[in-house]
Parts: sequence; C-alpha cells; structure tokens
Amino acid sequence: MTAGRYAPSPSGDLHVGNLRTALLAWLFARSTGREFLLRVEDLDTGRSSREAEAGQLADLAAIGLDWDGTVVRQSERGIRYAAAIAELDVYECYCTRREILSAPSAPHAPEGAYPGTCRDLTEAERVVRRRERPAALRLRSSVHEFTVTDQLHGEHTGAVDDFVLRRGDGTYAYNLAVVVDDCAQGVDQVVRGDDLLSSAPRQAYLTSLLGGTPPTYAHVPLVLGPTGVRLAKRDGAVTLAQRGGPTVVLPEIAASLGLRGSTPQEMLGGFDPARLPREPWTLPVG
Ligand code: GLU
Repeated sequence: MTAGRYAPSPSGDLHVGNLRTALLAWLFARSTGREFLLRVEDLDTGRSSREAEAGQLADLAAIGLDWDGTVVRQSERGIRYAAAIAELDVYECYCTRREILSAPSAPHAPEGAYPGTCRDLTEAERVVRRRERPAALRLRSSVHEFTVTDQLHGEHTGAVDDFVLRRGDGTYAYNLAVVVDDCAQGVDQVVRGDDLLSSAPRQAYLTSLLGGTPPTYAHVPLVLGPTGVRLAKRDGAVTLAQRGGPTVVLPEIAASLGLRGSTPQEMLGGFDPARLPREPWTLPVG
C-alpha cells in the first residue's frame, strides 16, 4: 500500500491555512493513486481535545475530503513508540532548556544543535543526575546532516542532532511519533506546511535507522495573515465557519492555488504539482 496523509494537531478549529494544506495533501495523494489517511496528533495532552478533533474532522469532510480506513490517534499508540525506542541507540538527558542554551556548542555541530552535554556521562554521573529530574531520551545520532527529496524544494540537506525522542515527563516526541506512524501506516508521501521542512532531515534519518525508506516530501507554502507572518486564529475570520463555509472557502483556496473547480474532485483534474505557487499566500482577512 502507498499512502499520503494529513496529520492535524487537535488543539482548536482548523483555519484556512490548515484546510489548504489538507486539500493539497489530498490532491497529491489522490492524483497519484494513493490512499489518503488521517492521523490525529494528540500527544500534547494539555492542548489536545476530543471536541477539537471532532470539529476538525467535520470541517475536513465539509470541504469534500474523504479518507481511507479509520482515523488513528497518536495518544493510543504508545506501545509502538516504546518499541521503536528499544531498537534505537539512545541516551538519557537531564538538561533543562536553559542549560542547553547556555552550553558551549560542540565543534562542527550545526547551529541550535543539542551540545551533547549528557551524551558521554558515566553511569555514576547518571545516577547522580537522575536525582535532579526525570530524564528525557535522546537519539545518539551518528550524522550531522541528512538529505531529503522534496517535490517543491528539490534535494534539501538539513541538520540532524541528538534530538529528543521521549520527554522527561514521558511524552513521546513529535519527531519520533511521526516517523513510527508514517512507517507503520505505509505513508510514502508526506505533504505538509513548509515550516516543517527543517524537521524532515531528522525524520528521514530516523526512518532509515528504523529500517524504513524515507517518504517523498512536498512542503507547501504557508498561508500568511495580514501582518505577514503565519496565519493564526487571532487574525480574525480564519476558520471555515467564520468565513462562511465551504462555498466561500473552497473557491478562495482554489484561486490561491491556480486551480479550477469548486470541489476537491473537480480540482483533481487540473492538479499539477509543478505548477503550484511557490510563494506564501496572504489571506485577505474579512
Ligand atoms: N501535527 C503537525 C501539525 O499539525 C503536522 C505534522 C506532519 O504533518 O508531519 O502541524
């Protein structure tokens, strides 16, 4: 099976930017004969709610997207994440965010990379540090960068460091869960906002460590609000309901993508990734 997917975080209503990315993920998948899966990324229990999830799924259906199989929730897949960690070379990390920021960076390490403070602690040192706070688990990465193939960005090489796989509070990290799930679900095409392009090298590297083949990526331009930064709820009328429903929002998304048609099915005919706009779209906010 080959599949594409959309993987929203259920922390509130989807806005036009999310709906546009979801539509693009659907168009990429359906135009290439792939299944289209929906996965709810609800590992952040403080921000996720079932109510938001239900609203998001209803909005995706309302704009005419359909999906295959049942919707998967990350909060129910802890066993798989634990099994993946058991296969990987990991180490405990006791650093706070502040300690990481104030540590000198390691030679040759990319900017912003974890400086390696806890990488080579002795067992005796670990015993002491464990008393300070619960440890996070980091991947002992053996590369500093990795290259992915992106349909819109070409070959993209980006930094890989010893990134966190499980937080100190026991929550599995997005970078781990997304890779484990994409592999387990047969996802070989990842379409999402281009704010995640910089995460792709880490995720593709982790995929290869787990014996998978990295997917092809398409990181699509974001939708911007009136102030020129990524669209947010505070920007005014940005959700499906606020803007007047599918009959208003679908044509405006289609126009922003240079596509004809008033339903996803109609847009499929003329869909060509090579002709997609490469610039962000600034949403006229009503
Ligand atoms: N759950 C992420 C988000 O809502 C998307 C992750 C992904 O598509 O890989 O931004």
